[in-house]
Amino acid sequence: MKTKWALRAIAGYVLFGLLMYWYLFRFANTAIPEQYRGTAADPAIFMNSRELYLIEAYSKIRNLLFFLSAPYEWLFYFLVLALGISKMFEKWAAEVSRFRVIQTAVYLFWFSIASFLFTFPMSFLSYRFSKVYHISTQTFTGWMKDEVTDFWVNFVIMFAVFAVLYALMKKYRYKWWIPAWLLSIPYTVFMMFIQPVVIDPLYNDFYPLKDKALEAKILALASKAHIPADHVYEVNMSEKTNALNAYVTGIGANSRIVLWDTTLNRLNDKEILFVMAHEMGHYVEKHIYFGTAGYILMMLIGLWLNAKIMNAIASRKGSGRWMTGISNISSLPLFLLISSVLLFASSPLVNWGSRYEELRADRYAVKMTHDPKSGIQTFQILTKAGLSEVNPPLLVKIFRYDHPTMLERIRMLEGEK
Ligand SMILES: [Zn+2]
Repeated sequence: MKTKWALRAIAGYVLFGLLMYWYLFRFANTAIPEQYRGTAADPAIFMNSRELYLIEAYSKIRNLLFFLSAPYEWLFYFLVLALGISKMFEKWAAEVSRFRVIQTAVYLFWFSIASFLFTFPMSFLSYRFSKVYHISTQTFTGWMKDEVTDFWVNFVIMFAVFAVLYALMKKYRYKWWIPAWLLSIPYTVFMMFIQPVVIDPLYNDFYPLKDKALEAKILALASKAHIPADHVYEVNMSEKTNALNAYVTGIGANSRIVLWDTTLNRLNDKEILFVMAHEMGHYVEKHIYFGTAGYILMMLIGLWLNAKIMNAIASRKGSGRWMTGISNISSLPLFLLISSVLLFASSPLVNWGSRYEELRADRYAVKMTHDPKSGIQTFQILTKAGLSEVNPPLLVKIFRYDHPTMLERIRMLEGEK
């Protein structure tokens, strides 16, 4: 009975993988539409045939890995439940201590180890491919170090969250999602506040911009945009990747604009100023605050739905084979499975909102710099450096793209020229 369900889930996963393979490798057409051939958005204009070939090959692999990853995580949660592994971890934890907090920590430790081992092949494949295609410049040791940091950061965060959540589940049998949501608000704000100063530095070195002449130009642009100007940071990424990036992060006194050093190395001053103006656009339009508010609203809907679905499953006969009870830690894989499915299902909406903000930030950058030409060059260099597709398949855009496609971004700037 146990293995029958497990085999069905694995067969379903393999079938889904084959379907996605067919979609991405055989069905989807990513050629640039006829009417844009020969424009600045046509990759054939700014890349050689070898680069075009690499983008084509790497994008397909990367997209397939993306679509395989989320259901792979679901498969893990399902197998841990259906094969009775979650109940076994709970038993081990109960043997260690009679204190619930310690039991939760022990359960989470075994659960995290199992999850790490199960998902390792997938993470390793992603790393290997990005190394083969010269996107990642990280050594295996460096990559492994990040994986281990990830493990412990996740462990600490999960412990803090689930020790509280399961105490709430015990106390408020069916209504735990209300206090859980109320507590998630200060928690989210706190995490956003400490992210740039506590969590990000665990992975990379951050420092104020080194190029002082460039800094002066950026600060001048910032004062034009009425932005308090001590917020530009550089991060040492060139030992990890060849891709370029810049972003705004954090809230309140810890909010900062961050530039990868790869971006500083590959772009000229005018192009960097365009990128900075784009980031300032996010800052001026307060996208982080809208994002935080949206996230808190989604938490409300997500926790409510999760509680409903968990209760429905727990009240069915036979759920005892999966977990000892809904408010016991052995139900955690079910909670995570439902959360992860809901998150994936909501990603098209979240991405759509993000693409809208990115478009506005691009418009803002044109308005600030009056230099769409540098913007177009920037996007062409970004495409090349990250081996990104200019015109991805529709499903990839819907589920993966939190920025407009390069075709859309360059077309927009061409219109502004
Ligand atoms: Zn942006």
